[in-house]
Amino acid sequence: MNRSETLFEQAQQTIPGGVNSPVRAFKGVGGTPVFIDSADGAYLFDVDGKKYIDYVGSWGPMILGHNHPEIRKAVLAAVDKGLSFGAPTASEVEMADLVADILPCVDQVRMVNSGTEATMSALRLARGFTGRDKFIKFEGCYHGHADCLLVKAGSGMLTFGEPTSPGVPADFAKHTLTADYNKLDSVKELFESNKGEIAAIILEPVAGNMNCIPPVPGFLEGLRALCDEHGALLVIDEVMTGFRVSLTGAHGYYGVNPDLVCLGKVIGGGMPVGAFGGRRDVMEHLAPNGPVYQAGTLSGNPVAMAAGKAQLNLLQQEGVYDALTAKTEKLINGFKAMADKNGVPMTTNTVGGMFGFFFTTEAQVTNFEQVSACNMDHFKAFFHGMLEEGINLAPSAFEAGFLSLAHSDEDIDATIAAADRVLAKIAT
Ligand code: PLP
Repeated sequence: MNRSETLFEQAQQTIPGGVNSPVRAFKGVGGTPVFIDSADGAYLFDVDGKKYIDYVGSWGPMILGHNHPEIRKAVLAAVDKGLSFGAPTASEVEMADLVADILPCVDQVRMVNSGTEATMSALRLARGFTGRDKFIKFEGCYHGHADCLLVKAGSGMLTFGEPTSPGVPADFAKHTLTADYNKLDSVKELFESNKGEIAAIILEPVAGNMNCIPPVPGFLEGLRALCDEHGALLVIDEVMTGFRVSLTGAHGYYGVNPDLVCLGKVIGGGMPVGAFGGRRDVMEHLAPNGPVYQAGTLSGNPVAMAAGKAQLNLLQQEGVYDALTAKTEKLINGFKAMADKNGVPMTTNTVGGMFGFFFTTEAQVTNFEQVSACNMDHFKAFFHGMLEEGINLAPSAFEAGFLSLAHSDEDIDATIAAADRVLAKIAT
């Protein structure tokens, strides 16, 4: 047994499933998860000393590469001054100003500790502001693990939600209406049949939790118009896409203005951070000024703010997103070329620093149904083949991949060459 296998066996005694977040357990691909010892730039190093080129990036935050020297320096400087004060700091004001400067849709922002807290709090605020209980989410979109968000449509029925996890009371789930991503008509029907009752639409502006599905032209604009028509708020969950698809996120990239935006991952530079912000009149409904309660012992933590601010400052440099997009396109075009060369059917999607590849004969993948119908055996073989080659991809066919600015041309070329070898084996 290698050290990862030993640690996984040991972990399962005292940690449920051996992991602190389910996807890490490799259930989607089989086998033993790799335990990581350290990370630097584009690379991970496991506890057995093997090096990997990493395309997970801690599930999104590490957009500048792992252990970036300037972020590390900022964190260490903050640590020197103390770990947490439970009182306001200048650092929080600087962070709020930074976010409001970068995102024109943000008048005010509240810091939290995770993406889950951001979406959960934004929805509570949307409900408190509108005085309505129901909201719309899309099948295949993940917004963290708050009760009301762990709901999907029952066999495509666009009526009342069903809990997808035991432990979510049906009484909570019934306020969650589920529509089909990229299908505006499914949203229109829900507004028609729930007139005056819908507080908000929440969505991933590029879905990254059913692989990588960009919005079709007119979808985001159509949602904005429906919200305006029916007095509902548009809550854009940019926990994954924020500062990743472009500096101004996916809503900036596609030019659609949310009422509230949820942030996480990149904004924390690798520390546990989330945020939600938006229109002043809505945000002022939050405690202590307004009646909608929301709080956090460690929210705005000074060490986390230092990491996030350092990362956001670096991301504002000229050319960052052009470089990130070019790297991402080089990688995903390389995967596609190798799949074609080896006769393995594959379709790809990419926006900014996010990518997805699908083992399918469909020319375009735009919804959850199509993703679910992809060849999972090919995905598993590709994942394990690449891991063996020292390439770390997300261990699930339902996750997007991420590039960082630390990935060099040589790293990407080596990854494409590995993909060629692995796809050749899959083809035989
Ligand atoms: N929203 C989106 C779009 C996400 O991708 C995630 C996590 O992957 C979340 C919310 C939840 O964030 P966290 O895992 O930090 O709670």
